[in-house]
Amino acid sequence: MKPNQIKIQDVTLRDGNQALRRPWTLDEKIEVFDLLVALNVDGIEVGFPSSNETEFVASKTLAKRAPVGIPIAGLSRANETEIARTWEAIQYANKPRMHIVYPVSDFSIRHVLKISEAEVIQKIRKSVSFARSIVGPDVEIQFSGEHFGDAIENFSFTKDAFLAAIEAGANIINLPNTVERYRPMVFVNMVKEMKDFIGDRAKVSVHTHNDLGMATATSVECVYVGAEQIEVALNGLGERAGNTNLYETAIALHQNGESLGINFQRIYPTAKRIAEMTDIPIGEKTPIIGDDIFSHRSGIHQDGVAKTIKQTKGAYRTFSPEFVGRNDSETISFTNQSGHRAIQFLLEKRGVSVSNEEIHRLFERAKAISSNENNREITEGELVDLVSNYVTAS
Ligand SMILES: [Zn+2]
Repeated sequence: MKPNQIKIQDVTLRDGNQALRRPWTLDEKIEVFDLLVALNVDGIEVGFPSSNETEFVASKTLAKRAPVGIPIAGLSRANETEIARTWEAIQYANKPRMHIVYPVSDFSIRHVLKISEAEVIQKIRKSVSFARSIVGPDVEIQFSGEHFGDAIENFSFTKDAFLAAIEAGANIINLPNTVERYRPMVFVNMVKEMKDFIGDRAKVSVHTHNDLGMATATSVECVYVGAEQIEVALNGLGERAGNTNLYETAIALHQNGESLGINFQRIYPTAKRIAEMTDIPIGEKTPIIGDDIFSHRSGIHQDGVAKTIKQTKGAYRTFSPEFVGRNDSETISFTNQSGHRAIQFLLEKRGVSVSNEEIHRLFERAKAISSNENNREITEGELVDLVSNYVTAS
């Protein structure tokens, strides 16, 4: 069921950019594009060329800049004028990809489009056929059925809608969880049913949003029911709570034995730069890239960390900081939750050997300082001072 090769398609420059308080300038878009190329993603959606002149120029510039063999997608609504305009921008890429989006959920059809299901099918057929007529036989066309995740009530129609897109010339079927409303397995089962229905007639892609914080879980599980492409964004940027996070998805798949082309060591520097460029800070507890995720403060954890620090699999570590390009290391910090192990570990790290009794005295000293000062954390530097003072004094 699982595909041979999982493709990571980045949509930061389109879905991410359109949700920024201050969308990127052309120069900034070029910088993000280069970061994505260095990260070695499998494909890049560069923009929404028909939406405005800035987007058009940026999409065209990035299409021209694209390396050989990297699919460069431009998003378009399902009408001929916009599809033609999109093609004008992305045709310069070595491997352009036309991406057409149209709603498929019952809710959208009744309350937003206000047309019949037959008209929806006709609109999809017409727009995808038109795209095929202008891009020629070899260019990929991706069709997204907006609000696929909502299309539970009209699932049978939704299958017909995607089939119409394939018959009209689409090669990739993108299944978006445009708004995350249900539990992951509801969406995963819909993707599985769609994959079983489509078979080899087109590739299946998923595009999930993180409204309930489950976008990574949802997308990762979709791989195991046959999704061949996952659409993601740097730093989880995107509308509302964002798109599926590239880093989390890639690391989760890697940890589960999947082979990806991602240059994992580029993750941390990329994340830091994107945080600067967007003025959206990285939370301390953010998986993969947060400042605090390699700190250990409780006694039991510190003991486990100290005993397994040199092993590939750490007692309390999924992956090492260096694997994602961080130059920090696992840190043992001292609070009133910490144990003797913290002191011993720091001494060992500096090649100082002292008796258990001495370790106990240093431990009591550090604990007293912490307790006297509102249970604050004693930093590694302070502990080192404490230890050096002690060692010098003795
Ligand atoms: Zn989206």
